[in-house]
Parts: sequence; C-alpha cells; structure tokens
Amino acid sequence: MARRRLVAGNWKMNGDLAALAELDGIAAAAAAAPGLDVAIAVPATLIMAAAARTAGLAIGAEDVHPAEKGAHTGCISVGMVRDAGGRFSIVGHSERRADCHETDAEVRAKAEALHRGGLSAILCVGETLAERDAGQAVQVVTGQLAASLPGGAAAGWLSIAYEPVWAIGTGRTPTVGDVAAMHGAIREELRALVGNEAERIRILYGGSVTGDNAAELLGAGDVDGALVGGASLTAAKFVPIIEAAA
Ligand code: PEP
Repeated sequence: MARRRLVAGNWKMNGDLAALAELDGIAAAAAAAPGLDVAIAVPATLIMAAAARTAGLAIGAEDVHPAEKGAHTGCISVGMVRDAGGRFSIVGHSERRADCHETDAEVRAKAEALHRGGLSAILCVGETLAERDAGQAVQVVTGQLAASLPGGAAAGWLSIAYEPVWAIGTGRTPTVGDVAAMHGAIREELRALVGNEAERIRILYGGSVTGDNAAELLGAGDVDGALVGGASLTAAKFVPIIEAAA
C-alpha cells in the first residue's frame, strides 16, 4: 500500500525567535512538495510563534504530559499545545526515555492523551548499541512498540519512528538492509497489534539523516519518511531532505 511520506524535524533544546526565520525556506520547500507531509517539533517556547509564522507546516511539541492540567510543574498539556497552534507531538524520544526515565506505559499514556485531545503523535522506538550488539535489537524495538502503542492506534493520527539510539546525533546510520529489516519487523508487529490498520500507519526512520543519505534511507523497504534532528535546524540542511522525500 502506498503511504504518503512524512518528513518531521525535531529541534530538541535549540532555537529562539530569530531561528524561526529558517521556517520560511522550509515552508517554501514543503509547499513545492504537495505529495509530502512536513512537520517540525519545536521547543514549547516557540510553538505559538512558529505556528503563526507558517500555515503550510505542521508545528508540534517535543513532548506532552498525559494529564489535562494540574500540579505538574514545567510540563505542558495536549490542550496547551493545541491552544498554541501545535498539531502534534513526539512521544517516547530516546532522549526523554533516558534523561527523564520515561517508561513505555507513560509513553503510551502521552500518545493516548494526544489522541483524546485531537492531535497527532509520532511515537519513537529504538535500541541501544549494546542491545544491537547483543542481537536483541528486534526484540527490544518490537517490545517497546507493543508496550507503548496507544489504544485506538490508527494512521490518521499516529506515526511510528524507528530511531536507533546509537544513530541519533552521531553521524552513524544502520545499513539500508538493517533499516529495511527493522521496519519490516515493526510492520509485522503492528499487524499483530492492530490488524489491517498496520498497512496504513507510517514508519519513519530517524538517526543522522542528512541531505546526503536521505534518498538511500527513504528508499529502504517500509520506510515512510524521516524524523530528523540536527539537520532540521536550518533550511539549508533540511530542504535537501524534503526534496529527497518528495
Ligand atoms: C532525533 O533527534 O530524533 C534525531 C534523529 O536526531 P539526529 O537527526 O540529529 O540524529
């Protein structure tokens, strides 16, 4: 089944109001690629200004709290993201799983909160280098997926991002064969979990995607787009990835 590609950026803890000028070139490239979805997750401080600046790009958050409101200092809710003009959030990024000790159950709750609030989710899974070296990559990744997949998972609001932890921000990538094998395993696990809907849910690859390797990685079997960190920070680096995906 042909799935519409999604290229999503993740600015992490980078960017200020001046940096939003980069969105202009990115939005222009997205407008020139009508067959592609382009999204950017920005720091919470920038969601409102980013969403106001560009209509053609989906602007989102990098994380949300699963509760609607309350005593959770420093966190933002799905409603707050929506109110600021955000349309989605990343959940379960490996940096949050590591830095904030997020569990699969918490990731699942966050994704379900996004769905309840009418926003989309990009759910990240991925193995560490030690897990890959131990031959446990598929088991770890499919286990994370099974444990963190939200109820009601459907392509209309959910994408999966396979991000090997050891490839994030390192300049290292898996071979195209390894990417295809893992995406195939994720698709198979999705079939077991959600039946036919698995054919429609997009599976993105993330980890050191650049303009130089995007076409090759996007060409791997079952790769429906990319989640891009460092190379999403500037139009000069992100636009070639959009063009490779278009
Ligand atoms: C990410 O943060 O999700 C990511 C893939 O980062 P990078 O592209 O910099 O490896």
